[in-house]
Amino acid sequence: MSNYIDSVVDDLDRQVLFNMPLRRAIILFSALLFAVIAFCSSAAYYFAMREILNESLAQELRQTMDTRRLTLKAELDKEILLLKVLSEYPAVRDYFLNPEDEKTKEDCFALFEHHKEYFQSKIINWVNVIDSNYYVNGKLMEKYNASNPNHSWFFEALENKNPPAIKVAYDYLNRYIYDLYIDYPVYSDGKAIGVISGRISLLKFINRLDLPENIFIFDKDGIIISAADKKIVQEQKRLKDLFAVQGEKVHEGIFGMGKNTSKVFDFGDVQYVVNSMERLDLFLVAKDKVDIRKIIEERASMVFLALLLLILLVFIVFNKFIGRVLKPINRNMLSYIETSLLDELTKLPNKRFFNIRIEDEWNRAVRGKYNLSFLMMDLDKFKDYNDKHGHLEGDRLLREVARVFSYCVNRTSDFSARFGGEEFCVILPNTKVEGARKIAEKIRVFIERTGKATISIGVACKIPTLEDNMQEFIDQADQKLYEAKNAGRNRICG
Ligand code: GH3
Ligand code: MG
Ligand code: MG
Repeated sequence: MSNYIDSVVDDLDRQVLFNMPLRRAIILFSALLFAVIAFCSSAAYYFAMREILNESLAQELRQTMDTRRLTLKAELDKEILLLKVLSEYPAVRDYFLNPEDEKTKEDCFALFEHHKEYFQSKIINWVNVIDSNYYVNGKLMEKYNASNPNHSWFFEALENKNPPAIKVAYDYLNRYIYDLYIDYPVYSDGKAIGVISGRISLLKFINRLDLPENIFIFDKDGIIISAADKKIVQEQKRLKDLFAVQGEKVHEGIFGMGKNTSKVFDFGDVQYVVNSMERLDLFLVAKDKVDIRKIIEERASMVFLALLLLILLVFIVFNKFIGRVLKPINRNMLSYIETSLLDELTKLPNKRFFNIRIEDEWNRAVRGKYNLSFLMMDLDKFKDYNDKHGHLEGDRLLREVARVFSYCVNRTSDFSARFGGEEFCVILPNTKVEGARKIAEKIRVFIERTGKATISIGVACKIPTLEDNMQEFIDQADQKLYEAKNAGRNRICG
């Protein structure tokens, strides 16, 4: 098969494979469907991932908080135990029973002095019921007075059935910090005879927990008591100052919360976990955020890419399958083209194909207003050749002549055909008469060089308009061919 036919077959193959309306519709529809599936799956994955990460984040927060809460409880228990041990010490009890006795007083105070080392703030106060003396760190401060509201804590501690009494209070007078007070009564025969009070800077106490950036401790008024960032505590910031509306909601949400319980506040991607303390009116809050951009960038986009690759794979397989299904159809079309549009002997386009093509090119030239050239050719004295060498040899020569066209007529828009018998023609779109003559001369020389035959060529060239007649144009070339024959053959006319 000649190169020409190969290109026709390739062209047709492509046309059948990709341009069939049904095929195009299937491809478009499947591409769209796959894209939608990929998008929906990635979106579903994203939301599921967000849910899972949210849950695991809350769990993680709860665990961190539990550890912190237990550490805080252990620290508090340590201090309580210390006071309890002191309160039960015989030397302490002796002093509270005999405050006037200098010897017992000395022993007891030495004991306090020794034990306060274990308190971080080193402040231990005590009050004796018998002489109403209120000592602060071993120094007599004042007489205890039931009518003084500042001294009410003493009576509360004495009457407390479930010691110790623990509270947090702001020191408005001296140090401008929160203090943690642990008050433990001293008993003698089941009767409270005094109170020992340990005072610890809350900040220092909580600092033992080494709070991370995202955990804060606040009181029931929503004031931040402790945080990794000390400035927040110094400026007495509230939850709502730190976290705006979310902070306010968290603060509102702690009312009615039981002691030693935990609550999750879920604001979509942002989560807060609040733990209430067992003995203190304090709450620990941890805040964290699911990094959505990270999910999208690291996970959902990977899913999307993986799906796209999968889809591409499915698409290629699908395409191959369709190609296989269409192969017999294709083969039928090709054989149809071969039998109906190509000349059997030379495999050049036949007269029918020529008729289709010349009309197309004519109309295109009319629209484009460019030169259309046309060569009409006839082998000279071919009857004699046949008579001399036989029909089979004549056929061989015709095939040889057909090959000459593939050498001489090169542009993709050019078109050569077997017009009939030993007559051939060439359509040369967008070619002026000089160019057409050149190609005609080339063909003539090539045929002459075979040494077996010569050819006569008639040339027609025109910028066709709507008023012109195509048949007249073809006849004009035929007329020129006739002239060439009459002028002695093996020449070009027109
Ligand atoms: P002229 O120079 O005037 O064209 O002389 P000619 O002999 O070529 O012209 P004519 O029309 O008298 O003869 C054409 C011959 O071409 C007749 C026929 O034997 C031969 N012919 C036509 N088709 C075929 C074909 O397919 N195979 C062969 N071998 N010969 C063919
Ligand atoms: Mg002829
Ligand atoms: Mg002839």
